[in-house]
Amino acid sequence: MKILITGGAGFIGSHLSEKLLKSGYEVSIIDNLSTGSLLNLEKIKSSSKTEIHIDSIFNKKKMKELVQKCDQIYHLAAAVGVRLIVDKPVETIETNILGTDILIKLANQFNKKIFIASTSEVYGKNDSLPFMENCNRIYGSTNIRRWAYAESKAIDEFLALAYHYEKKLPVVIGRLFNTVGPRQSGQYGMVIPRFVQQALLDHSLTVYGDGTQTRCFTHVYDSIEAMVGLMNNDNCIGEVYNIGSDQEISILELAKRVISVTNSNSKIKLISYSDAYEDGFEDMKRRVPDLSKLNNTIEFNPEFNIDNILIQTYDYFKQYNIMEGI
Ligand code: UDP
Repeated sequence: MKILITGGAGFIGSHLSEKLLKSGYEVSIIDNLSTGSLLNLEKIKSSSKTEIHIDSIFNKKKMKELVQKCDQIYHLAAAVGVRLIVDKPVETIETNILGTDILIKLANQFNKKIFIASTSEVYGKNDSLPFMENCNRIYGSTNIRRWAYAESKAIDEFLALAYHYEKKLPVVIGRLFNTVGPRQSGQYGMVIPRFVQQALLDHSLTVYGDGTQTRCFTHVYDSIEAMVGLMNNDNCIGEVYNIGSDQEISILELAKRVISVTNSNSKIKLISYSDAYEDGFEDMKRRVPDLSKLNNTIEFNPEFNIDNILIQTYDYFKQYNIMEGI
């Protein structure tokens, strides 16, 4: 069985590719290396069961060939990271909406099951927690560029569900909650790789706002376990699932843990959101998934807690000596 992974050289895509290879599948990766990296594929690039295509999902001829030849698709290629979204809104909107449109149309043409990677951002600034898959989405104004990401991913979900409804396309949608771990880059805004690299350099850890905002961080190994479990269960077709941990931590507490785990001399520096991102920037105060739908479908037992995640992220940056100048 051959699995096509768009964005397969990215942080999540590369771990997913490794897992699928280990489970005996063949893997076909397409990635334009915009935010992904060949370093992520070191362990699998010479496997006879891996195909790597450095190309864009906008190359329709190539995509047609790859979709035709595969049995299942995980569509992970997307513009991600708050920094990238705020700095490059055109790329974000076009990649996330038009790129997914290409994949879904081809999946439909060749009747291939497709996993759509969505995000907890789709809940927006709804403050009634925990988020169930069918709860309301609340967004801010269109002149706040951050919201383009949530909207673009919500459109992907609408499109996938519409194809399922009208054309019986087998789709599975996963809303990922702050997936983190080794190989995640800090260049596009994500907080854990940024804090760990800052700590390694004994620089101040840049906590945005007052640091009382919370997140639930999930190890990428746990996230991919859930993704594969959902894709291999026929009851999940046409459904949307939260994927993540429900263990909340404030960003200020996270900064303290990073300093302690890395044994760093760093201090903590509070930075306003407008200095960090853009005027009028709106952050989500809390974001917690309701995991009952996921747990009722597949047994989901996250294996890694926040300290495991921080230690593994630290080891990764030390091992490869990656300092991205953040
Ligand atoms: N954050 C921070 N310092 C940073 C980067 C991010 O305090 O250097 C905060 C950010 O404002 C948010 C949280 O950490 O409240 C998680 O940010 P991330 O971009 O990782 O994920 P998301 O905002 O999508 O949950």
